[in-house]
Amino acid sequence: MSPVDNHAAALTVAKFGGTSVADFTAMSRSAAIIKNNPAARIVLISACSGVTNLLVELANGVTEPDRRQQLLTRLGQIHHNVLSELQSPENVASKIDSLLDSVSTLADQAASQPSVQLTDQLVSHGELLSTHLFTRILNEMDVDTVRFDIRDIMRTDSQFGKAIPQPEAIRQLATDKLRPLLENQVVVSQGFIGSDSKGQTTTLGRGGSDYSAALVAEAVDASTLEIWTDVPGMYTTDPRIAAAAKPIKEISFSEASEMANFGAKILHPSTLVPAVRQQIPVFIGSSKAPEQGGTWIRESVDDAPLFRALALRCNQTMVTLTSLNMFHAYGFLAEVFRILAEHKVSVDLITTSEVSVSLTLDQTDTGGGAPTLPPKAVEALSELCRVEVEQGLCLVALIGNQMSSTKGSAKQIFGTLEDYNLRMICYGASPHNLCFLVKEQDAKSVVKALHQKIFE
Ligand code: ASP
Ligand code: MG
Repeated sequence: MSPVDNHAAALTVAKFGGTSVADFTAMSRSAAIIKNNPAARIVLISACSGVTNLLVELANGVTEPDRRQQLLTRLGQIHHNVLSELQSPENVASKIDSLLDSVSTLADQAASQPSVQLTDQLVSHGELLSTHLFTRILNEMDVDTVRFDIRDIMRTDSQFGKAIPQPEAIRQLATDKLRPLLENQVVVSQGFIGSDSKGQTTTLGRGGSDYSAALVAEAVDASTLEIWTDVPGMYTTDPRIAAAAKPIKEISFSEASEMANFGAKILHPSTLVPAVRQQIPVFIGSSKAPEQGGTWIRESVDDAPLFRALALRCNQTMVTLTSLNMFHAYGFLAEVFRILAEHKVSVDLITTSEVSVSLTLDQTDTGGGAPTLPPKAVEALSELCRVEVEQGLCLVALIGNQMSSTKGSAKQIFGTLEDYNLRMICYGASPHNLCFLVKEQDAKSVVKALHQKIFE
């Protein structure tokens, strides 16, 4: 079937994040959005708000029995609170309790010997739990709904903590196992989690539910992907930083990808990759206020302003590698990147001078905080050059269109920032962004000042 045929039969994949399924009230609001849209027949949800953090702490190995019990009690409360609001909780209650028991057993194991594999198995329980509750809520609202285990189709490699999905396998599995369920009912399933070819549970990395939803939308040739969160779409910057931030009604895939990449927390950075591959328009809105509308992300939009938005991403690690051997030599950077690749270090920004290269590290795994260079990589790099690591930095990214070919845009920006120390600047590689590192303590005032200059 061609995508066009499928688009005709409107099929929406809707994803609800943790705050949209935080408790009974939030779940009911989100369920109403599904009930009101007959095209929304695949629903992927996150764990209830806060649950993944609790599970990650348990998975890291809590050896102190009181603390472990405290976390387990809190987990029990979150889910039992929802159960207590259901009309007929009986069937679901037993499933919730058996999942909570399994969390407790796995937490004991993690306390004696944590592992990445065990972590994925443990944290996957957040989504396994929330989907039982959400399915029941939809059914109690008279929406015919089945719960589906996404691990039956979300095939990934075995890189626990940040597994790489395999789109072709996912499409085949979705065609065989998910599509037949869509006829007359809604399917509720888990974001974030997957399974490798041996059936071991994996996860796509923190915040990965958006990405899951996009992968599923791609696999079933959906006509729309909806991402429901707690803010009504994308803004010119985070309104908590600049109160005058304006909502963006429509934005192109390329601009939105840059925004997601550069820290606009509203979308997991990989989300748009499958949407772009399959040309699926993406809508972002607030499940608390669906009537407010939100942001549409599409291939092409009417308006492509020079400056679109400002994004901020903190916890940056900058690595500077210096060697006199680099002067007019060839192969030095190749060697640097060979070492980084060997130690699975993903590089984000890069600038070079005659004798040094500075780069920032990508955020990779389930843990928060600034990424670090593995000691083995430092060791190997040190044989080649001097290695300096700096933290306490934030990345400010200005997103727009034709920025590298519009006269005067750099002056406008850097003029505003003359009082700040810019640690590293990247400009020119993409027409859609200009970004630089600043000290953490300056970050918010830099964004405020730029926002005022450019957007207010
Ligand atoms: N529950 C997971 C997390 O908190 C995935 C997600 O919400 O997207 O990271
Ligand atoms: Mg999220």
